[in-house]
Amino acid sequence: VSGPALKPPAGVTVLFDEPLAGWTSFGIGGPAEILCLPTDEDQLRQVLDWARQAGRPVTVLGGGSNVLISDRGVPGLVIILRQGFDRISHQPLGPEEVLIRAGAGFSSGRLVSLAGEHGWLDLAFLAGVPGSIGGAAVVNAGAAEGWMSDVVQGLRVLNGQGRSRRLDRAELDYTYRCLRLDPDKIVVEVELKSRLAEPGTVSQMIGRWLKRRRVRQPGGAGSAGCFFKNPPRDSAGRLIEAVGLKGRRCGAAMISDVHANFIVNLGRARAADVMVLAERARTEVWIRFGIELEPEVRFLGRGREKWPWL
Ligand SMILES: Cc1cc2nc3c(=O)[nH]c(=O)nc-3n(C[C@H](O)[C@H](O)[C@H](O)COP(=O)(O)OP(=O)(O)OC[C@H]3O[C@@H](n4cnc5c(N)ncnc54)[C@H](O)[C@@H]3O)c2cc1C
Repeated sequence: VSGPALKPPAGVTVLFDEPLAGWTSFGIGGPAEILCLPTDEDQLRQVLDWARQAGRPVTVLGGGSNVLISDRGVPGLVIILRQGFDRISHQPLGPEEVLIRAGAGFSSGRLVSLAGEHGWLDLAFLAGVPGSIGGAAVVNAGAAEGWMSDVVQGLRVLNGQGRSRRLDRAELDYTYRCLRLDPDKIVVEVELKSRLAEPGTVSQMIGRWLKRRRVRQPGGAGSAGCFFKNPPRDSAGRLIEAVGLKGRRCGAAMISDVHANFIVNLGRARAADVMVLAERARTEVWIRFGIELEPEVRFLGRGREKWPWL
């Protein structure tokens, strides 16, 4: 933070000019001006105070698996919630249901493993979705078998002043891959409800869905999952494939030849390369089908204004 010397909060890990590529599943992205890794709510409050006093913007990341970070990096503070925000507890709600409370930084993959162990039927849909449960709640992550909005009972959030509040399910404005949340709100805890089933049955479902993903989705290369939202009653992957863009490259970025709605990083791709491909796919699909694809991946950082459709 430039200007009057404002000291970072004591005890919080703070990294200056930290490249963000390694903090994302795409493996792409310039530096965070300041990266903060608070390990509890008290530290998070101190970081928010610091940002407020220094007048710097705040961006939050969970697993970084649904974002494309600008090559020019992210101004202000980037706060990553992982270690310390990864607690979980569960309590039965009668014989057939369970309530789970997970810290925002709890990994969705670990939650799926627990769902298999305990028979948490309604959380099995997250099989193969990387990232944190806080991120999943904010983007309304989902698959054919379910969405976060089906299972979230409430969220605990901190606002820019560090005040904590519980938002009940009834207050949450969920739509397809979106939760309308005030920009200064940070999710710190997610409450989930699930029906209970035979653990063996749930594990088998999870196994089946993971196998299906291994066949249908590109493995190995970096990506952020599906780049575009599916238009109503259609699939973005089908449309992009139909305009002949499967396998198209720009630099080290490629429209996957396995699933055309995935843009993959073959090595040292830049965000600009990914955006050239995304724009090309959008334009061709618009010309051929008159359908406007909307991004599912969130672009964060400098230069966003270059792509008004983001
Ligand atoms: C191989 C692969 C497969 C995928 N499959 C799917 C799929 O089937 N379905 C699906 O929906 N997604 C899928 N994704 C995308 C992604 O994994 C999910 O959307 C995931 O739930 C995002 O969680 P995250 O923690 O990584 O979020 P991030 O990418 O870290 O953040 C996503 C957004 O949420 C905000 N955010 C994150 N945490 C918080 C918080 N605590 N408080 C406030 N805001 C926050 C960020 O600012 C950002 O705008 C896939 C991705 C990959 C790489």
